[in-house]
Amino acid sequence: MNKQHLATGTVTQAFGNLLHVRFDGAIRQGEVARVNLGEESLLAEVIEIAGHEAKLQVFEDTRGVKLNTPVHFVGHLLEAELGPGLLTTIFDGLQNPLEEVAKATGTYLSRGVYLPPLDRKKRWDFQPIAKVGDLLERGDAMGSVPEGRFKHLIMVPFSHFGKVKITFVEKAGAYPIDTVIAKGEDEEGRVLEFTMVQRWPVKNALMEGKKIRPTKMMDTGMRILDTQFPVLKGGTFCSPGPFGAGKTVMQHHLSKYSDVDIVVIVACGERAGEVVEVLRTFPQIIDPHTNESLMKRTVMICNTSSMPVAAREASVYMGATLAEYYRQMGLEVLLLADSTSRWAQAMREMSGRLEEIPGDEAFPAYLASRICSFYERAGVVELKNGETGSLTIGGSVSPAGGNFEEPVTQASLSVVGAFHGLSRARSDARRYPAVDPLISWTKYLDEVGAELNPRLSSWAEKVKASAQIVRKGDEIGKRMEVVGEEGVAIDDMIVYLKSELYEFCYLQQNAFDKEDTYCPLERQIELFGLIQKIFDAELEFDVHDVARSFFLTLQNELKNINFMPFHSQKYHDAMASIEAKINEKTVR
Ligand code: ADP
Ligand code: MG
Repeated sequence: MNKQHLATGTVTQAFGNLLHVRFDGAIRQGEVARVNLGEESLLAEVIEIAGHEAKLQVFEDTRGVKLNTPVHFVGHLLEAELGPGLLTTIFDGLQNPLEEVAKATGTYLSRGVYLPPLDRKKRWDFQPIAKVGDLLERGDAMGSVPEGRFKHLIMVPFSHFGKVKITFVEKAGAYPIDTVIAKGEDEEGRVLEFTMVQRWPVKNALMEGKKIRPTKMMDTGMRILDTQFPVLKGGTFCSPGPFGAGKTVMQHHLSKYSDVDIVVIVACGERAGEVVEVLRTFPQIIDPHTNESLMKRTVMICNTSSMPVAAREASVYMGATLAEYYRQMGLEVLLLADSTSRWAQAMREMSGRLEEIPGDEAFPAYLASRICSFYERAGVVELKNGETGSLTIGGSVSPAGGNFEEPVTQASLSVVGAFHGLSRARSDARRYPAVDPLISWTKYLDEVGAELNPRLSSWAEKVKASAQIVRKGDEIGKRMEVVGEEGVAIDDMIVYLKSELYEFCYLQQNAFDKEDTYCPLERQIELFGLIQKIFDAELEFDVHDVARSFFLTLQNELKNINFMPFHSQKYHDAMASIEAKINEKTVR
């Protein structure tokens, strides 16, 4: 945009981070502005316009802002910078690279410090793809650079509409990201120059191509999720749970083990120090699929609750935009937001200051639609070259007191494809992961069944039958608490014992055991298959005691298998021993 047309204004009133500004010129909703305090300038966003008065939300602490403090509007919305170098980086919600900020200022949080998100000096090995004379459109690749183990496509900016006739492509070589790597002419004959960097407004979905139905499962190595409540690549899920139930541990597991190419983590810390802990420990974790640092496939957006509200609100959108950008390269991306309740609270705070009419629990009336449009950014996209890219979105929710009847949980539940509800009762009983099989659900089981049937017939039916056993077992267990073991029929007792065996040996998983923490799909299929043999066996017992001791023996042996290396001799022997015990006991 032309410099002369940028609006300017002055502060007339300030309410915390909310400024009232009188301005001249044209501005628009969401436009970014700089509040100038001499040496420092604070970023802000326009959230309401009425005539020549606007309300601006400042992204940081507004100490020092006075009557008539000058404000300069920058002419664009809050944008993400997209290009090589995003992977391995840790940003805040406004895309400040936190490690660079820390190097420059000695702290992760420094007011008015905005550093370029991407490294300007680093050289990338550019390989041209487009040729002079090519007619390209937004999202078409002009070249590529290797980023980690991926081919990072340098694409025609998504903000460009219409065709571009390429007139120049830089030859292969190592260049910094601001190098002009291609030039072109638009339909009006204007000359365009392209570098390796482009920008995109974070609150708008970035997508080019056709959305198609997700069909492939996202294997996470967590048995209760993959088997019982699976998620598809390109699908959505949410995991509400009370404080301390294991949401963050679960999200960390997903970020480590999910079989996707790229993970974008939006960490809105709940406990003090939680985010710092993530910053410290995460870079040391090794990716089990590649044996390289996990950071090589990760982008992290970090927030603490001490960060200003508007920056917290922006971080979820920032994460979604970076994730969508990689999806356009034909990659499989997972976006994790922990916790979306912190994001919703930021919306509530901002709405309160604007004196909007509040809805349920003082959240703004548009809460549900914002949550919905966030999850709708997920999906599988078919690209022009026939390849697909996917974005899977998972958010944790931390409802006060673990009560799911609250607006954020309810709004999330109405849009997601899978619900992994964590319960206090399970985490108190140290039944981890505390995903409650009695309340959780997924809409993706039939697609997963179609994928897994060749490996274990009638997969989805078996999973549903197992859920049924868990449900019945729970009822019978409650009855047994009242009338005692002998008070229920022996057949009911057997259903109860089966459900306990499934619970202890399959649904529970020890996040801190070397072998058990990650259970590859292959291994889940074998173990699940063996458990189905136990479920289907025609077992007969005369007395309750005998039934109990038979199942307890099986349960102990089966549980131990989870701690044995997959396909080790010990593992095979133990699996065979269980099979022999069932066969021996089966009535013929
Ligand atoms: P939340 O994010 O729901 O508040 P966390 O994920 O931080 O809760 O978990 C709190 C604690 O619960 C962890 O520090 C850990 O001790 C325990 N925990 C959570 N999940 C597991 C698990 N899968 N296995 C063992 N312990 C767990
Ligand atoms: Mg947490």
